[in-house]
Amino acid sequence: MPENVAETQATIRQDWKQEEVEALFALPFNDLLFQAQTVHRQHFDANAVQISTLLSIKTGGCAEDCGYCPQSAHHPSAVKAEPLMPLEEVMKSANDAKDAGASRFCMGAAWRNLKDRDLERVAAMVEGVKSLGLETCVTLGMLEEHQAKRLKEAGLDYYNHNLDTSPEFYGEIISTRTYEDRLNTLSHVRDAGINVCSGGIVGMGEARTDRAGLLISLANLPTQPQSVPINLLVQVEGTPLNGTDNLDALEFVRTIAVARIMMPKSFVRLSAGRENMSDEMQAMCFLAGANSIFYGEKLLTTDNPDTNHDQQLFKRLGITPWVGDDKAEDKQCSAA
Ligand code: SF4
Repeated sequence: MPENVAETQATIRQDWKQEEVEALFALPFNDLLFQAQTVHRQHFDANAVQISTLLSIKTGGCAEDCGYCPQSAHHPSAVKAEPLMPLEEVMKSANDAKDAGASRFCMGAAWRNLKDRDLERVAAMVEGVKSLGLETCVTLGMLEEHQAKRLKEAGLDYYNHNLDTSPEFYGEIISTRTYEDRLNTLSHVRDAGINVCSGGIVGMGEARTDRAGLLISLANLPTQPQSVPINLLVQVEGTPLNGTDNLDALEFVRTIAVARIMMPKSFVRLSAGRENMSDEMQAMCFLAGANSIFYGEKLLTTDNPDTNHDQQLFKRLGITPWVGDDKAEDKQCSAA
């Protein structure tokens, strides 16, 4: 057994250093996965995976210039900007999601930041979805303190806001906001008593040191995020990152394993990019400690072949949907 397994199991550390995280990444693959799986079993049912759903309540026309995103108005790929969805449509989708078995409903808007003129409309959506008995999650861009408080009052359970990558690499991906802006929003969310969902994207041309830097930024937050989505870049034509060299699949699995070791009580989620992963790669990610997956809004259609495929994969692996676990102190959000 690697020497530091027992120590990692016992405590949540928020003082991770670059060298030690890089040393984790550099472990022999089998040792790394063994350590991650050992930590995972201390806190979670190793054969349960949480399932999340997402509805886009405001698509396209975003003022940010995130190099990976087709919703940015800065890129030729820009998807058509649509207005904020009416409450009735959101409620219908939430009802459908509930009927399809979802317990948590996330609403995402392609905004640089939430504007006060939209705050009450979003708060009404949160209240409405909550009244159905579903957990609520939103991702709306940057938030101010009073907005976070209002969303909490409305019944918001989780807020998604990703750090994306390391502080050092961040400027290569986004120029319209700073790392500090992201951290400030996370701070408002935490202070309002809302659970934090925050992770990043790998495969954007970053170095391993940046993957380590991202995980350090997340793990060393004042409270570790309850949910940590690890996305694999989906290359979209017309976005600046289209054409980036693909990340080695085993390096992605290593990233999951290191995230699990550093954030032992967080849900680590496979989200964007999962559709391009083989069943075998996903199985290895579950072994490395991933315990949440993301379904798009297509989950809302019962005949979704992807959903069927996921159900078959779960069956082949003996995995059951997570429905709550005494060992898990927190639940997680369902944002991308
Ligand atoms: S803030 Fe979100 S929606 Fe806007 S460009 Fe960035 S990733 Fe896309």
